Amino acid sequence: MNHATSKKLFDRARKVIPGGVNSPVRAYRSVNLDPPFIIRGRGSKIYDVDGNEYIDYVGSWGPMILGHAHPAVVYAVRERVARGASFGAPTILEIEMAEELCEALPSLDMVRMVNSGTEATMSAIRLARGYTNRKKIIKFAGCYHGHVDALLVEAGSGATTLGVPDSAGVPPEFTSNTLSAIYNDLSSVDELINSFGQEIAAIIVEPVAGNMGTIPPQPGFLEGLRERCTKAGIVLIFDEVMTGFRVAYGGAQLLYEIKPDLTCLGKIIGGGLPVGAFGGRREIMEHLAPLGAVYQAGTLSGNPLAMAAGLETLRTLKKENPYPKLEESAAYLGDGINTLLTEHEIPHYCTRVGSMLCTYFTAAEVHNYEAAKTSDCARFTKFFAGMLKRGIYLAPSQFEAGFVSAAHSQDDLDLTLEAAKACLSEI
Ligand SMILES: *Cc1c(COP(=O)(O)O)cnc(C)c1O
Repeated sequence: MNHATSKKLFDRARKVIPGGVNSPVRAYRSVNLDPPFIIRGRGSKIYDVDGNEYIDYVGSWGPMILGHAHPAVVYAVRERVARGASFGAPTILEIEMAEELCEALPSLDMVRMVNSGTEATMSAIRLARGYTNRKKIIKFAGCYHGHVDALLVEAGSGATTLGVPDSAGVPPEFTSNTLSAIYNDLSSVDELINSFGQEIAAIIVEPVAGNMGTIPPQPGFLEGLRERCTKAGIVLIFDEVMTGFRVAYGGAQLLYEIKPDLTCLGKIIGGGLPVGAFGGRREIMEHLAPLGAVYQAGTLSGNPLAMAAGLETLRTLKKENPYPKLEESAAYLGDGINTLLTEHEIPHYCTRVGSMLCTYFTAAEVHNYEAAKTSDCARFTKFFAGMLKRGIYLAPSQFEAGFVSAAHSQDDLDLTLEAAKACLSEI
């Protein structure tokens, strides 16, 4: 596979963009390669500037659940942009989006649109603090909630991969109210609640952890968080930026039947355009400006283009209900890889929830960040390079989820397993 043009572009990019990329994981540093530059995508495939074709399991890190350039989404955006991209004034599309989100997610009475997942979690935390008049928050090691100062503590994938669990430029004062607990471990939460109960505004959690690979919540974990929050007057925030409309149309909260107080959304609800949202109980949401004292705003929030792409994606998902097929495809792929690894006697632990999946190169059972970190990253790097060479585009890190889309065909899945088989004899 030739990457000459990508290499040239990467050199050019690095002169004017730090690291050559607009988000660090794209630089392929953790896998010691240069990234291919992508020129177009269609369905399950993406194509780079050197003419290489890949079966894509990154899907823009989650949003592209319908595959690339889905005709209905393309049409909706084209239609919309011709009538003006943004007005900074109310539009009907925003109501339609809010109604769709509130209908889909059991816990949402009201919702506000923002422009990224980061903005959603940042705003949800501010709202929880304003509503409770408390300062501290609990997050879980290995969960990523965007690059919000207060949430860059043991923040999973990008940070883990780069070996910087915390970021320079975040004063310790900014994270001094952030408490870190262990995923799937309620006793670690109890310890914090016992010490700081009356000071804790919120617990924020990925209901399926997708930024340290893919770690399902163990039975009782989310229920336990719900009970503890209700009892201690703590706002329970589900960060469903990745899981919303991914693990089920109604998100992980529908799948596991737990109602958080606030929910953060992003990725799929923008259909590939930059979108985020946060919503929840009316009583809490009414603390937001202009009704309440918690300030939050956005020049491009709810802009018509993003709403058009997102709404069309959601409507297509609702109409076509690809979830049973997604489940089947991802199970086929995950089981196939699991079997191959067993045959090759390579230590591994495979996880999956719906169309999110991960293969950890470790003998440990992975239920939390500590266990995820026992993975053999050198082996992952070899696996990644072998797959890329064979036209399989995975996320360039052991600590990322893989995503199957509705556009992946049986052929795609079989080609992927064939590639994996060839690759495993080399690693
Ligand atoms: C991707 C992600 C975010 C951050 O969203 P951005 O749009 O990248 O700011 C936050 N939380 C979770 C769970 C995510 O997967």
